[in-house]
Amino acid sequence: MYNICMMIKKLLLIFFIFIINLFNVASAEETVKINSINFDNSDNIVFLAASTKAMYINVKSMKLSNPDRIAFDIENSVLTRPNSSWTFKNSSIKEIKLSQFTTNPNVVRMVLTYNKSFNVNKLKLYRIDDNLVFVYNKKLFTQNNLHSVYNDEKSKENYYEYTLFSEEKKAAQPAANSAAETVRSPEAIEIQKAFNSKGELVKKTNTTLKSSDTKELKLKSSFTVNSIDVKRGNALIRGIGAIAIESPFVVAEPDRLVFDMPNTYVNPEIRNKEYVLSENETIKIGQFEPTKARVVVTTPNAEKYRPIYSYDSQSIFLAHDDRLLGLKLYDRTSAIYNYSAKKIDDTKDILHFTFTEPIIHSIKKFDNKVEINLYNSSGFNHDAYKKNLDSEVLAKLRTEQLPGSNTGIKIIIPVKKTTTLDYQESFDNKQLKLTIMTPKEVEIKKPKPAIITRNPNVKTIVIDAGHGGTDVGATREGIYEKDITLDIAKRLETILKKKGFNVLMVRSNDVYVSLQDRVSFTEDNHGDLFVSIHVNSSVTPEGVGLETHYYTPQSYDFAQIVHKEFACAINSKDRGLFKSKFYVINHTTCPSILVETGFISNPEERKELLTTQRKQKTAEAIAKGILKYLGKD
Ligand SMILES: [Zn+2]
Repeated sequence: MYNICMMIKKLLLIFFIFIINLFNVASAEETVKINSINFDNSDNIVFLAASTKAMYINVKSMKLSNPDRIAFDIENSVLTRPNSSWTFKNSSIKEIKLSQFTTNPNVVRMVLTYNKSFNVNKLKLYRIDDNLVFVYNKKLFTQNNLHSVYNDEKSKENYYEYTLFSEEKKAAQPAANSAAETVRSPEAIEIQKAFNSKGELVKKTNTTLKSSDTKELKLKSSFTVNSIDVKRGNALIRGIGAIAIESPFVVAEPDRLVFDMPNTYVNPEIRNKEYVLSENETIKIGQFEPTKARVVVTTPNAEKYRPIYSYDSQSIFLAHDDRLLGLKLYDRTSAIYNYSAKKIDDTKDILHFTFTEPIIHSIKKFDNKVEINLYNSSGFNHDAYKKNLDSEVLAKLRTEQLPGSNTGIKIIIPVKKTTTLDYQESFDNKQLKLTIMTPKEVEIKKPKPAIITRNPNVKTIVIDAGHGGTDVGATREGIYEKDITLDIAKRLETILKKKGFNVLMVRSNDVYVSLQDRVSFTEDNHGDLFVSIHVNSSVTPEGVGLETHYYTPQSYDFAQIVHKEFACAINSKDRGLFKSKFYVINHTTCPSILVETGFISNPEERKELLTTQRKQKTAEAIAKGILKYLGKD
């Protein structure tokens, strides 16, 4: 007896494989262009993205044996990517092949090779918008949710089911192919569910799945980024699956806004490609970890950006506050028909909305507040509700009109810096649930620096190893700036301690330290000198050499002396001394410098930067400069 749980478990082992192109603008002729294939990792879905103006996509299917396989011939179609095949070890589908079968007439053939546990009768083919979706062993679905365009177009409802195996025959069976076959089953949410990462709310919907299955499905969601499009200086990030982002953070030099997208795979063709947002702003997305994407926006105004979730959570519009004006974000407004705010315990409060239509929204956490923007929904009467509210946190909630909008509202909830959020949305984007978690106030004893008696003759030198933790700094070929800077910083620490200085390390291990904290550490400890260690990078591999940066007038002599020692000692190009308004050397009061110890983007220098010799030499040269500056050489 075939067991669906086992099936799902097996399929969970199929790791997400995929190659995709941008969704091209449909060509004038009615040729179907197959530009991507995607296997969802949580379920048995094969997704072929096509672009076409064709009214019908004709698909013929045939069963073949030895080995058992099914072939699908997509008529009048062109494969815009190379022929490929994928094999699966722990699945009833053993192999999938996609190829240009013939060129006259144009036929793209997809072949699924399967073992005996595979029941071909359970295979279904759908057309959703211009895409073909092969679904195994799943019920139908109602919502046109799989593929989305943010919102410049009206959402379409082109969703057809092909009847593939109405009767089993050995010979080729033409697929049903017309819009007349359109099916909209009432029970059809499974596919979206399979893609849904924030599944808690899903359970409350009318589902035919057993709860154990739901659990499996919700944990294995994924998102595939297909494209980035710039729209008036905002970035639209689109893909397939359920999008999720981790709390954005800001790093400096240059100033960048960074956010990570868990369970996300990035189309190799757009990885690390820079898109221009404005004269001095760019965006790119990289595969930071095998299942995590990282979006980096280089901008002097990181605080201006916020990610806006679309109708279907399959795209994020990274919008600049000043460039939203006049952009159409929605075509349907939504009322709030249910609203609840409650205190769970002293540390946890929950706010839960249900909307009449899918909601376009963003959430942004500041040190002292959370802002939820509902772009296509107007206000609600919190004041009436507030009277019976036992939640101190949510009692302070207030709303205001979104600037420049008649329908949108901004919900503001004052919170603490230590507050964390869990934000969920339902698969149909009609429910939002915000869990606000505020840790209990413990008396925070600020760790006072352990300098009790300060010998006025001993100088305190603060060493700042650039970056750290989630802020990896510049990176090439899996090598992180943060590791090189820490290594050099530790060597410098050892040398300076031997010389009798009071040496303070901003970080001694791989942790994230904000720029503000780097400065306040230096100020609180009355640092006499501040040295920040960095590794440079450039877009071209040619960039090479050494730089020293200073900003304040009191830093000039220090910078000059250290740079001279440093540039003499290291066998690389002397790029010189720079006056640069970097945060850490601009906000410290003591003489402060930032040393760029070489280019990670230059293959040869990168290799050298990894050697003990180069790192030791660098530390020694900086130490020598410090001694010289202090008149102690
Ligand atoms: Zn750096």
